[in-house]
Amino acid sequence: MLLLLLLLSRYFFPEASRIFSADRLKPVEMSVYPFAVPKGIKLLCELCQKSANLVCTNCKVTYYCCSGHQTSDQESVHSCICDNLAKVRQPEKYGISEEQRQRRKQEIRQLNIEIIQTATTRAHHLLFQGLHEQALPAALHSVKFCMEIYGLQSIELIPSYLCLGDACIGLGRLADAEQYLSQANWIALTNPKCPSSILYNLHRNLGLLYAAKGDYAEAARHFADDIYHASEEYGTDSLKTSGGYYHMANVFFRQSKMDIAMSLYRQVTKIWHNYLLEIASNKIKKLTSPKTLAAVRLTAEHRTGGLDETEEAEGIQVLSTIFDIWESSHKKHSKDLAETSLALAMLFYCLEQYDKAKKFCNKAYQVCEDKEYSETILKFLNSSKELSP
Ligand SMILES: [Zn+2]
Ligand SMILES: [Zn+2]
Repeated sequence: MLLLLLLLSRYFFPEASRIFSADRLKPVEMSVYPFAVPKGIKLLCELCQKSANLVCTNCKVTYYCCSGHQTSDQESVHSCICDNLAKVRQPEKYGISEEQRQRRKQEIRQLNIEIIQTATTRAHHLLFQGLHEQALPAALHSVKFCMEIYGLQSIELIPSYLCLGDACIGLGRLADAEQYLSQANWIALTNPKCPSSILYNLHRNLGLLYAAKGDYAEAARHFADDIYHASEEYGTDSLKTSGGYYHMANVFFRQSKMDIAMSLYRQVTKIWHNYLLEIASNKIKKLTSPKTLAAVRLTAEHRTGGLDETEEAEGIQVLSTIFDIWESSHKKHSKDLAETSLALAMLFYCLEQYDKAKKFCNKAYQVCEDKEYSETILKFLNSSKELSP
């Protein structure tokens, strides 16, 4: 397995100058002086495992074959884990007691766990931004350290493999993605205690892989498993479950099975609409209460009403796609278009993008033919002072 990872690192980073342009962030680098390296020790590049001739001047324990690979690693994850790597890779002192040795072992384990968390979070962050190539080093670090700390068959490896699979799907490297996701699936199958919170994500990524390959039957089967596990963990009306409905709808849409696709898109819109209505209303209430006005303006959580980075990115992507679908046939779907427009208005309102919020709110009001729902739209428009004319 480790051998496989090393081979794949080589495959992913054959020539870094191709990956990043030279005018981006400039990493600190220093040539390795060959006679300063103890005899018998071969220094290998952090990314591709080829023989190295550069070293990071900060940690002095991370080596690279070329400045391109150093830049790739620095921009992806190294700058966030450099200090911890320096501590972890420091050689053990001579003559220390057994107690000190055990304590150091514990400290190193804790630092390695921090490195895994940082690398995984960083990979997720870059993937949300659509920077798949840049996410690769972070995802590879996440897998590599997970293997070292938890072993090759541990459940903890699955989220790291999913990041790697996600990056590969984004880059169109479907064969690589399949290899990583099959590995994650195998770990899940051999661990009966694998929780639903991990299983739904695994099936979602497998579904996305088969959808990208055009195997819609297999994709639908995985999205059904995704919905089953997400519902079990979070309930049928949760945002997490709505992701499965959305991807399932896309599969039917691509096969021109419109009725079922539309009913699933409607379900997704309803979940987002109700969720955003609640947080937008809470935000309005808090912002208009004079006592808390000063305090709430300070916290990012209150600014966005509690939306996290994943929800922001997913909300914009999902609702914009559904909006385009309803708009292309809005005569037949005026209520659906109005609901999706209001959901987008509330989302942009929570993100403090008031121009966009206003635009979608007006759109919702224009197309709405349902009198009762028009009042809901007007109520939102009038209660949020940022949107009033
Ligand atoms: Zn290299
Ligand atoms: Zn470093």
